Amino acid sequence: HDVKALKVDDAPLPKSKNLNVLSEYEKSKSKKTASFVVVGHVDAGKSTMMGRLLLDLGVVDQRTVDKLRKEAEKIGKSSFALAWVLDQRTEERARGVTIDIATNRFETDSTIFTILDAPGHRDFIPNMIAGASQADFAILVIDAGVGAFESGLKGQTREHSLLIRSMGVARVIVAVNKLDTVDWSKERFDEITHQVTGFLTATGFQSKNVSFVPVSGLTGDNLVRRATDPAASWYQGPTLVDELESSEPTTRALNKPLRMSISEVFKTMPSPTTVSGRIDAGSLQVGDALLVQPSGEKAYVKSMLVDEEPADWAVAGQNAILHLSNIDPIHLRVGDIICDPTHPIQCLDSFTLKALAFDFLMPMPVDVHRGRIHAAGTIEAIPAILDKVTGSVTKKKPKIVKPASVARLVVKLSTKLPLEAGQRVVLRSGGETVAAGLLE
Ligand code: GDP
Repeated sequence: HDVKALKVDDAPLPKSKNLNVLSEYEKSKSKKTASFVVVGHVDAGKSTMMGRLLLDLGVVDQRTVDKLRKEAEKIGKSSFALAWVLDQRTEERARGVTIDIATNRFETDSTIFTILDAPGHRDFIPNMIAGASQADFAILVIDAGVGAFESGLKGQTREHSLLIRSMGVARVIVAVNKLDTVDWSKERFDEITHQVTGFLTATGFQSKNVSFVPVSGLTGDNLVRRATDPAASWYQGPTLVDELESSEPTTRALNKPLRMSISEVFKTMPSPTTVSGRIDAGSLQVGDALLVQPSGEKAYVKSMLVDEEPADWAVAGQNAILHLSNIDPIHLRVGDIICDPTHPIQCLDSFTLKALAFDFLMPMPVDVHRGRIHAAGTIEAIPAILDKVTGSVTKKKPKIVKPASVARLVVKLSTKLPLEAGQRVVLRSGGETVAAGLLE
């Protein structure tokens, strides 16, 4: 009720500079931004590799790593030190330094990256789905060790690949890891490249969107700097960071109507009408009129911050903090969508989803998750089972969908949510993810 007691901010409308935001963006030469998830079988070396990458990029310092290594040695597990670097960062987040999933950031000369998930945790799948629902690309980590690759491919590698593909992630950088354990065998690397290419294309990835780098996450070879081991000299291609930097952000939808999902509403400071979030599509500038869905209320941009700096405008892919005016804060909630009032997002209580099934699906109640919002719903009908790669109908009106198949589902919601084609949606039941996919 504190919030309700506050008066609606009905200050005079903020003045627009009427900038051409897209040309401002071109001129600004601001760094590219790209978000990714790290996936792969347990023990493939995901945390070790990310820890080492952040160390070699100078995001975390050697002192932190040394301290962690000492602690790890005490319990006889020195190689855990790097894996703990990431956990350290996660703890910081838990203490409230940053709250947004989208603030696990690091920069190279050309690009600002966001790691959408800290890997290596037990509850990896739900985290990964949240991450994959925003990712531009994925790093797939594969253990090149003898036998490990084969068992991994049957295990989570397959599950994770299907999942990111069904969530609309198109590009994969495969880190063929632990090559130090097989003396940097080129044959091993080639064999894995061949098999994984076959497997990923069968999962629906285009081979031009898949690249491979031989690395050792433990020693840092071919992550930021080239491998020093002479046995690795056969590889002169891009390092992992080169590959990360060359990732063209998937069509950023700069020209599309504005869509920004609210990830945080600041309760009091600096004002009760301050929100933060990621701009999913389009652009905005100070003075713009906005529409907040599902409430359908109008607001204006009084001022804004982009990457913690005051800014006149922001574009898709950026995280922004908006100070709004002329709106009552009761209309601003986490998960709401801020959009262009001339091209608003619709609020729907029924939609069609092209989804990958993780469990048996039939007409049944489900929790529908889209970004940070969720609502109760039901799978009302299953019009078709689809081919995983081509998307063509293989069976009409099945009674049931088996795990790992792709199906078209009609979902009904108990309440209207702002939804539109192309959004990534997750269905859960009894605390488990049962399906994930794209709104049609
Ligand atoms: P995750 O479960 O995928 O996050 O895997 P971890 O990062 O926890 O690594 C699992 C184990 O593999 C640990 O004992 C690491 O020390 C080891 N490991 C990770 N990367 C490498 C590597 O490049 N070379 C070698 N030899 N061991 C590695």
